[in-house]
Amino acid sequence: MNAELDRWLNGHVRPELRALQAYPVPDATGLIKLDAMENPFAWPEEILGDWLTRLRHVPLNRYPDPAARQLSARIRESWQIDERLDLLLGNGSDELIQLIAMTFSGKSRTMLTPSPGFVMYAITATTCGYRFCPVPLADDFSLDRDTILAAIEQEQPALVFIAYPNNPTGNCFDPATIRAVAHANPGLTVIDEAYAPFADHSFLSEIGTLERTILIRTFSKMGFAGLRLGVMIGEPAIVNQVNRLRTPYNINSLTQASLEFALTHRDRFDQQMFVIKQEREALRQRLRPLPGIVVYPSQANFLLIRLLEKSADDVCSALKNSGILIKNLHSQGGALTQCVRASIGTPQENSALAEAFEQAVG
Ligand SMILES: *Cc1c(COP(=O)(O)O)cnc(C)c1O
Repeated sequence: MNAELDRWLNGHVRPELRALQAYPVPDATGLIKLDAMENPFAWPEEILGDWLTRLRHVPLNRYPDPAARQLSARIRESWQIDERLDLLLGNGSDELIQLIAMTFSGKSRTMLTPSPGFVMYAITATTCGYRFCPVPLADDFSLDRDTILAAIEQEQPALVFIAYPNNPTGNCFDPATIRAVAHANPGLTVIDEAYAPFADHSFLSEIGTLERTILIRTFSKMGFAGLRLGVMIGEPAIVNQVNRLRTPYNINSLTQASLEFALTHRDRFDQQMFVIKQEREALRQRLRPLPGIVVYPSQANFLLIRLLEKSADDVCSALKNSGILIKNLHSQGGALTQCVRASIGTPQENSALAEAFEQAVG
């Protein structure tokens, strides 16, 4: 019976979609979870009561506000978004990436992005029928201006995705190179600032000035991964076009109410980001002297680490035996050979990680 259904699927689903693997999420039960760039801190105890009161009054028998007007207004105010720009909210920025890709898809179109980069770009390129064109980063993970401009000239992409800071390398590319990309790209340039809360610089103030360029951000890495909210910011004509493809009630009522509430307590969450940035630097300084590893500089809430002597597989299993889950990137190959990525945790979790690392590579 299964073989029969398999044959039927082969005949009815495009081969490249049959070949896809669902995004793997390992079970972290009982482990210190440092594999997914989550904010390790819970919501501050003092605001939980008010939050629950707020949720009690959300009418769950009704559809959510399709335009999430109140939440959008809060975000506008909180991030001081220029009134000439429009906002579009997504069920995580993953949904926005998909909507953007659907909007600009078409026969023999190309999606171009620096590599190594965020895996969802490649997956979305496949699902939306793009030719995917990864442009290799330099050895130090910088984006070489001539290389990417030559690739744009040759490929004439419909879409260019640039994660700023980049995942999984953690660095920010040279802003002047990104401006040159936006200028040269005949298609849409998407600057993905998923890690903006941990970075020293943002492109937010340049949106509307850079040609054919939009910005996307997410609340996931700031402490709201479970609520699923992404934000697109751009010129109204572009945002309106993407909005036509959106399913009407993509942001649920509990997410709208919770984030609206959280933004009124923004200082508390900003404080958490501040601690995470400090912890990132402290952890990097602690790991750097270890033998046989390279700890790359990071503008995000994770560290990319290359193992020069031990294997990434061995180090990840040693860490797992010590009760810690990080991300093994080795199987992605290329520039990520023998690389692992660890999210920044609480001070206690980071100490446990550093100790386990010392044992694993020492
Ligand atoms: C995590 C991440 C996202 C997706 O975040 P959502 O949880 O879907 O909002 C998007 N882009 C990059 C570069 C990321 O690392």
